[in-house]
Order: sequence, then structure tokens, then C-alpha cells
Amino acid sequence: MDEKIYDALELSLNDWQILFAEWGEQKFRAAQVCQWIYAKKVFNYHDMSNLSKTLREKLSDNILMSLPVLIRQQNSRDGTKKFLWQLSDGARIESVLLNHGSYKTACISSQAGCPLACAFCETGANGFIRNLTRGEILGQFLTMEKLNGADIHNIVFMGMGEPLLNEANVFSAIRSLNDKDMRNLGARHITISTSGIVPGIEDLADFEIPLRLSLSLHAPNDNLRSKIMPVNKTYPLQKLVAALKRYRDRTGERITIEYALIDHVNDAPEYAYETAALLDGLEPYINIIPFNPIPSKPELKRSDNSRVKEFCRALTELHIEFELRKERGGDIMAACGQLAGNK
Ligand code: SAH
Ligand code: SF4
Repeated sequence: MDEKIYDALELSLNDWQILFAEWGEQKFRAAQVCQWIYAKKVFNYHDMSNLSKTLREKLSDNILMSLPVLIRQQNSRDGTKKFLWQLSDGARIESVLLNHGSYKTACISSQAGCPLACAFCETGANGFIRNLTRGEILGQFLTMEKLNGADIHNIVFMGMGEPLLNEANVFSAIRSLNDKDMRNLGARHITISTSGIVPGIEDLADFEIPLRLSLSLHAPNDNLRSKIMPVNKTYPLQKLVAALKRYRDRTGERITIEYALIDHVNDAPEYAYETAALLDGLEPYINIIPFNPIPSKPELKRSDNSRVKEFCRALTELHIEFELRKERGGDIMAACGQLAGNK
């Protein structure tokens, strides 16, 4: 091999083992390399000190180590950090690091852009470029961990893109995050957020790693939901709720529902009642999130406090468990739905 045809983060542990078998290396060496990369965040083969010099040179000659290139970092007053990365073909994506004291959550992109064009989302307003590879998904997380200088405890697929439209690469990345010989991140610490891709939710119900699932609902009937989330025309609520129930039955996991309150669009108390009826039997946990204003839709406003209170009062009356979320990172356009990748 005189050309570098493999790229480290694109390889699963099994791929490394097959490659090392071909090279006549012992199998445990594959796990050693993965430990360096995923656990210790050592990305230079020459620094992998428990490998022979020959193996280090062979790795360096044959296996690329592509990582996202940091173009810009912005730090919010509330401790949130936003990273703009450039990928090898020039595509730009963003990731966010949220800080809850010393407890950190990485918000990762699964696509460059998003094809689903939800009315309230800046990512969607900017169109779709392409799916990210598994290595590009992992690269965001590992590079953020390296910059952070310590482990990040949680990963949420709530950055740019719809993770369940890039299922193969997202699932492959998650397997490596979870693998005990790689990053060893517990399933409880990995959340997929979806706009409601029914076949993807069905696959998640059968996925061998019990991830957490978050559903972006934002409207409790097909008429309103199709207006603000065109994906609802393909996967209407009846089918979506059936898939959520199946996921709940198969995994025993409680689903989180995301609902952003947009002034006079979806924030009437009647919608709280409709939401409760729609999700009856699912025991959902609802996150009421403040709508984050986006440049492309100045007409959409955040609900004022009195409307938020009314909505929450209705949920309380209905005995629905919910949390009123605070906005994070709004001053650097790092809040949910504000990621654009090229601004
Ligand atoms: N595509 C996936 C994950 C990325 S979006 C999804 O839609 O779930 C991450 C979250 O941000 C989703 O819950 C989405 O509904 C929410 N979101 C998008 N735009 C928003 C905005 N302007 N204000 C508040 N939340 C927003
Ligand atoms: Fe895509 Fe999610 Fe934004 Fe909708 S909210 S456009 S699905 S990233």
C-alpha cells in the first residue's frame, strides 16, 4: 500500500482487527490503537507509545487521521461553547458544548444542513448539503473532548441535521462511542433527537444499544404540524405515535418530547390538551423549550411569559410531567435550531 486509503475514524473495532490480521499484527493491538484514539484522544500515531516503532510508522504511512478543522470557537456568557468546523471537502458544520457545572453535554451534527425544512429552524432554512460520515460524527465529539481536556459526559444528536435520515453512519458512530474498547460511553448518555422519521424510530426500537430518544413534536395535530414541520406529511401523527409506543414497549424507555413555544402559532392552552390526548399511554416527559428566534424567519416570535404560563398551567392540570427549559447559548446563536454552519 503506498496510498493512504483508510481513515482512522471511519474504522470500527472490527475493521481495525481485520486490517491488523492482514498486516500480521496481533488482534489486541487493534484495541490498543482504539484506546489511544477514543479514550486518550491521542491522534498522532507516533505518540502511541505501547506500539512498536514499525507499527507506528506503518500506521502513519497507511491510515489517515482526518479530523474536523476548527474554524471558529465562540463562548457564551452562560458557559456554552459553539464550534464551527470545516470538513475535508470544505463543508462546514457546527457543534455545541453545554456546561452544567462540571457536567458537560456535546450537541453534535449528523448532517451538513438538513433536508426537512421545519419552519422554525435555521438549519432547515439553509438547505441540505450531505450526510456526515461516521468519522465526521465521531470527529466532532473527540475533538471537543480533546479541547475540553476532560471527558464529556453526554452526547445528544441535536445539532445540524436529522440523525434518522443518516441512520447507518449515526448508528455506526454510536456503536464505537459505546464500545468498551473504544470510547465506552454508556447508552444512557447518548440521545437521538428526531423530527419523527417513523422507520428510523422502528429501527431504534430494535437497536442493540438502548439509547435515549427525544421526539420534536411542536404541534399536536396533523394540520398544524404539517404546516410547521413538512416531514409530518410523510409520517403523520397516528403512525408516529404508533412507532413511539412500539419503541416504548420494546425498550421500556421513557421518551422525551420537545415542544418549542412559538407566539400564537402553537402556544394556545388547547394545544396542551391536545398534546396530552395524543400522547395518552406513553407517559411522556415534555421539555417546553423557549423558541429561539432565527434570522430567516423574523415573523416568528418567542411566546411571552403569560402565554408560557398558561400553557404550563394546562399541562399541570393534565398531570403531564414537564420541565420549562432555559435557553442556552442564545447570545452566540448556539441554541437549538440556530445552527447554520456557514455564518
Ligand atoms: N433534526 C432533529 C435534531 C436536530 S434539531 C430534530 O429535529 O429533532 C434539535 C432540536 O432543536 C429539535 O428539538 C428541534 O425541534 C429544535 N429546534 C429547531 N429550531 C428551533 C428553534 N428555532 N427554537 C427552539 N428549538 C428549535
Ligand atoms: Fe432538520 Fe431538525 Fe431543523 Fe427540522 S428541526 S429542519 S428536522 S434540524
